[in-house]
Amino acid sequence: MTRRLDDLKWENSFAGLPDRFYQRVTPTPLANPQLAAFNPDAAALLDLSADAATDPDFVAAINGDRPIPGTTPVAAIYAGHQFGVWVPQLGDGRAILLGEVTNGHHERWDIQVKGSGLTRFSRMGDGRAVLRSTIREYLAGEAMTGLGVPSTRALAIVASDVPVYRESVERAALLVRLAPTHVRFGNFEVFASRSMPDAVAQLADHVIERHLPQLLTLPGAERYAAWYREIVARTARLVAMWTATGFTHGVLNTDNMSIIGITLDYGPYGWMDRYDRGFIPNHSDPAGRYAFDQQPMVGLWNCARLGEALHSLISEDDALSALESYRGIFEGEIDRLMRAKLGLLTSEPDDQELAAGFLAVLHAARGDYTRSFRALSRFAPRSGDGREPAGASAVREAAEESPAIDAWLARYTQRLIREDSDDVARQRRMLQANPKYVLRNWMAQEVIAAAEGGDFAPIDAMRRIVASPFDEHPDAERYAGRPPAWAADLALSCSS
Ligand code: AMP
Ligand code: MG
Repeated sequence: MTRRLDDLKWENSFAGLPDRFYQRVTPTPLANPQLAAFNPDAAALLDLSADAATDPDFVAAINGDRPIPGTTPVAAIYAGHQFGVWVPQLGDGRAILLGEVTNGHHERWDIQVKGSGLTRFSRMGDGRAVLRSTIREYLAGEAMTGLGVPSTRALAIVASDVPVYRESVERAALLVRLAPTHVRFGNFEVFASRSMPDAVAQLADHVIERHLPQLLTLPGAERYAAWYREIVARTARLVAMWTATGFTHGVLNTDNMSIIGITLDYGPYGWMDRYDRGFIPNHSDPAGRYAFDQQPMVGLWNCARLGEALHSLISEDDALSALESYRGIFEGEIDRLMRAKLGLLTSEPDDQELAAGFLAVLHAARGDYTRSFRALSRFAPRSGDGREPAGASAVREAAEESPAIDAWLARYTQRLIREDSDDVARQRRMLQANPKYVLRNWMAQEVIAAAEGGDFAPIDAMRRIVASPFDEHPDAERYAGRPPAWAADLALSCSS
């Protein structure tokens, strides 16, 4: 059964915690709100009727023109390490948690509106989000989900013509996003830094009860240690999944690290076009602290900061042993994902090196990451014209005609022969492991330009493409081809 926003089963377990965890807030409405995007896939997660897309009352409710019965809007307090620097107080400076909705499958979703005005945590900010960044976050959450990587989801964008000032004048907008929880590492750090261990414990219990209830049977100390181990493991796996899809988050501050290991807070992120291990999507990060190849280390560093914040709950030995597990979990996951991307079913000692060899070719030639693996999915040594295997020329093209690619393909062919790999079956598997589409920054930019000109239709058209990235989309071939020349010059800043 689907419902209207007002009829959803609202709960407010976070707002049910003592008020030291948040500030109660009321949204500040935007003038002339207009629905710019609506995602029926996310609506279905809430049992929300897709009719909301045409219901002016839905926009009014999201905009805060009227309260939604059953909700208790709050802005959470947190802190964080930003670019390695401790910031004692942050918090939802422009996002409001409306409440939680449990769907018919007993799944609970936090519903947040981002951009809805000032809170106690807005610091120097205006409490607003720009249309550009809401579109980027809306599309990215759905693209990430389509790739099979845990992420926040996006329900809707409400645009306005209210001007907001960043590097230039932009339009304010609201993003409605969903997550099992929006709690971050920073929500714990703030209370640890204020020597409030009871608050740390209370928030830990809240997260465990809601998200890892299987741990509740363990006695206290063991429970917290197992919980921390699980966060470390999820973080390691998440970073491995990002790595395998060529994704760089861009701002991996501890306040952007999800306590349940999902991708959170999309800012100046990027899925790579040309493969470059040192890729930095964020032009406000010239030192590359959050470069592509730094993410595994940063994930561990962030887990260590969380471990420190949980010192009142877990022993140093337990914390260290959890952190020591990170590397093995990351490597196991990346190994599994690269094996799938190469279509391998068996395991050989040199497989990691084989995968690294392909990446080395791409890195040296700056071959397109996504297109190269997709082309490799159609490489079929057993068929071809007798002179060369089917699909080899497409791989060469994607790899920028690197002189090293043929030697690598020969090595790969030998490896496939050794496991007696069936070309047809392998191709089928690989086309499900190597996406045809990722949300490249230039693709998002095209949609943004249209929306800023008043045409919102491309937002959901793009969502449909990137949300099923392994499928063929005959009208979207352009997005699977060579990026346009201007893609290389796109610069993204932290401002959003
Ligand atoms: P972010 O870089 O988007 O993860 O934001 C870091 C912190 O700054 C968070 O606490 C945000 O709530 C806050 N913030 C970012 N932009 C704004 C804004 N325009 N108004 C108020 N707070 C903001
Ligand atoms: Mg953030």
